[in-house]
Amino acid sequence: STPFLSVRDLRVAFSTEDGLVRAVDGLSFDLAQGRTLGIVGESGSGKSVTSMAILGLHDREHTDVDGEILLDGKDLLTATERELERLRGNTMSMIFQDALASLSPFHTVGRQIGETYRKHTGASRHQARARSVEMLRRVGIPQPDLRVDDYPHQFSGGMRQRAMIAMALVCDPQLLIADEPTTALDVTVQAQIMDLLKDLQQEFGTAIVFITHDLGVIANIADDVLVMYGGRCVERGTRNQVLRTPQHPYTWGLLGSMPSLDGPVDVPLSPIPGLPPSLLNPPSGCRFHPRCAFAEKVHGGLCATDSPPLEINGGGRGTACHLTADQRREFFVDYATPQ
Ligand code: SF4
Ligand code: MG
Repeated sequence: STPFLSVRDLRVAFSTEDGLVRAVDGLSFDLAQGRTLGIVGESGSGKSVTSMAILGLHDREHTDVDGEILLDGKDLLTATERELERLRGNTMSMIFQDALASLSPFHTVGRQIGETYRKHTGASRHQARARSVEMLRRVGIPQPDLRVDDYPHQFSGGMRQRAMIAMALVCDPQLLIADEPTTALDVTVQAQIMDLLKDLQQEFGTAIVFITHDLGVIANIADDVLVMYGGRCVERGTRNQVLRTPQHPYTWGLLGSMPSLDGPVDVPLSPIPGLPPSLLNPPSGCRFHPRCAFAEKVHGGLCATDSPPLEINGGGRGTACHLTADQRREFFVDYATPQ
């Protein structure tokens, strides 16, 4: 089937006083209806920049965006602001970490959900209110016919997050971009929200791009996984491929810094040493080489000089690393063996 969202060689650069920041540097992926793509990486890897570019919410004056973002065949990068306005909140929608930033404190929750509905459907106030109640019920807000008249500050953090999801889904969008939507929540509410998103996806066939720094969240929700580092995709594949047989040293590091998927959960975290790269002045060669424990295993010091291409080996599985397949097997086994 043709992908619903197709991103082709996306490049996003900001001009700053210190020079050009290449925040996303040649990113491609496809997403089909009803699927969830998890994009994982540390902060500054280009995840959020990618979501803003898809939604057309980047600052046009200071940002250069190249490539293609095809939504159901239409290139969003050549769309007018009016066309984007019609799509946002309707065909494509978003939820963020901070619900307070997307909800106005001055209007009731129901009014805000209803306004989005009215804007795209031309429904009456009365219909919009009924729709708001229905959406609040659907996202699990108790007594929605009463809570619909509450202001955001009267909701708990978890409830505000649900209200934001209700607002994002009020027009049954075909694409939902979720950028760290559960990061600020405690583990229980986080699990509830993920279950909610999965249920809603089943019901509506929504395609979801789920952006997070947390591989545990990815393991819970993603069908496919794309690992970003320094504005580039370093590894991608199905969830099982990336989590069970990761190929890239950076992914090994991410996995090593999370509790085991099946083992005891109290394994101490071991974050990857070093800092994410500067995108103003990125490292030469492989952007991960200053932090990579395997760079010296590669023949000819290639890692510091040559950027490894993303090699696609069937079915969308891809890795960008100079290690040979044999080396990867050997080193991954070493890494995966408990000390
Ligand atoms: Fe490490 Fe070299 Fe592979 Fe980059 S290309 S991840 S530096 S081994
Ligand atoms: Mg972010």
